[in-house]
Formats: sequence, C-alpha cells, structure tokens
Amino acid sequence: MTAKPKLRIILCAPRGFCAGVVRAIDVVERALQIYGAPVYVRHEIVHNKYVVDSLRAKGVVFIKELSEAPAGPAPVIFSAHGVAKAVPEEARARNLFTIDATCPLVTKVHREAQVHFKRGRHVILIGHVGHPEVIGTMGQLPTGAATLVSSAAEVEELRFEPQAPLAYVTQTTLSVDDTREIVAALKRRFPQIYAPPLEDICYATTNRQEAVKRAAAMVEAVIVVGAANSSNSQRLREVAEREGCAVAQLVPSVDEIDWRAFGAVRSLAITAGASAPEILVERIVDAFAERFRIAVETLTTADEAMFFPLPRSLREAQAG
Ligand code: SF4
Repeated sequence: MTAKPKLRIILCAPRGFCAGVVRAIDVVERALQIYGAPVYVRHEIVHNKYVVDSLRAKGVVFIKELSEAPAGPAPVIFSAHGVAKAVPEEARARNLFTIDATCPLVTKVHREAQVHFKRGRHVILIGHVGHPEVIGTMGQLPTGAATLVSSAAEVEELRFEPQAPLAYVTQTTLSVDDTREIVAALKRRFPQIYAPPLEDICYATTNRQEAVKRAAAMVEAVIVVGAANSSNSQRLREVAEREGCAVAQLVPSVDEIDWRAFGAVRSLAITAGASAPEILVERIVDAFAERFRIAVETLTTADEAMFFPLPRSLREAQAG
C-alpha cells in the first residue's frame, strides 16, 4: 500500500457564520418553538442548502412570494437579505403575521438610502443585479430614485451632471477591492458624491476576504465552502484566484469537490462563506484526511465578537 501524500491545511479564521446569519437562523428556530410548525420563510433564510434543508425538516415552508403564505396565525419570516418596502406593506394589507430577520447591517444600508432620498439625493447603489439584498435596498425608494452599478465601467456610463446631488451606498457582501475601484470612479466623475459614514461592506465580508487573501498567498489551492448563489462566498473564491491560486473551488459540500485538481497539491487553505455552517468544513477536512496525511493549522487575521439580539417581538413572545 502506498503512503498517503502529505498535505498542509490552513483553516482561515474568521470563516463561516456571521452574526447576521446566526441571528436569522435563530429567529426561525425560536419561531418554530414559540408558534409551532408550519413557519413560512420568504426566500432562503440564508443562502445555504444545508441550513435550508435542516429547517425544512423541522417544519419550515420556504416561499418565493408572500402570495404563497396563507392568512392565519402562522408567522412569515423575511430572510437576512432584507426586503423591499412593498413586501411588508403587502403583508399588512393581507393581515399576515410577519417577523423580520433582515440583518441589522442591511437595515443600516436601507436607512442610509432613505435619508439620502429625503435630502433630495439620487442614490447610486453598488451591487449585483438580481441579488435579493439589492432588490430589497432598491425597493426602499420609489422607482427611479436609485441607480444600480456593478462595475467601474458602468460608472462611466452614468448620465448625471458632475454637480448633481448624488450619494452612494453598497451591498454588504461585495469584493472590498472591486468596490474601492468603483468608488474611486464615482468620486472622480462626481466629486461631491456623499459617501456612507461607515463602510457598507460588512465586517464579516471584510474579515473573511482578508483572511483568505493572506492564506491564499501561502498555499497552492483554496476551497471555499458556500453556495453558488452566496455573494460573499463567490467573492472569497475570486480573492483566492487573484492571489494566484491555480486551484480555487467554491463547493457547497464535500460531495462537490473536484478531486482531480488536488493530485499534486501539498498545501491548501479552507474558508467558508458567511452562510456556511462549520460542519461542512469539518466534513471536508475529514475527506482530505482519508486521502492525505494532513497537518492542520489555523490562520487568524481578526477576532469577531459581533452579536445581534433577536427582534423584539420574538423576545417578548418568548418572555410572555
Ligand atoms: S454577511 Fe454581513 S450583512 Fe450579511 S448577514 Fe452576515 S453580517 Fe449581515
């Protein structure tokens, strides 16, 4: 029997669940405890199949639109990505009982956009077309009050006067490096543009990108655990590629690893998007241990202590 080859594994820290995802999952779990099944969730509560399937097994019904939720006592939960204003309005009109699991850092961006609008500024949203968070943020303002841009090239196509009252906000899960370029392009064309008082890209996105950037420079390959529709996970894979990793795979689970790429690899970094549970990372490490003699270390580039309390309605319902 041939000896297994050696493999150095660097686990990026921080990785995986952020405070907004922990809170959103907690909201659903508590709602199940308090109100019983079924609990309805509009959109995937977070972009992760493992999480969604586990909740579905406990009695959660995932729906695309509110129209799929029956009127009655069963709660309807809005996902961590946030929703357009029209959604709670429709829920009120139908007398639905709703609980909002929008991440407070997304809500902060919604508020910024609303304040700019009230002050007469047109809002430029930097984000990805079709992402639910972008739909929710655009939907805080009347049609035509915000413009979405996804690249520096799109900034060049904007047709505003240089002195036009403009402000920008961003999706929370963007590439830190790409966004810097887009903001620079905006400031070059519109020097008066209002910037967010604090970064809109959230702490979790920033920390996970920084960790994988540092680790990717030390290894031959990177695995990012996360869903294809998870924006922050996609960005982690891009960061690894840009650092020159020839192998940078985004995989939802161990079953999706393309093992052919790892034959000659002797060093690997593993990270996970903000919606990917740690058990998926553990299973991947175990699968590598079956094929390699692994030596695992952790590279910590930031400490995270962020915590978001549950929505007040749930805390009160539980206390009562
Ligand atoms: S990635 Fe950031 S904005 Fe999104 S849920 Fe997590 S903490 Fe909130």
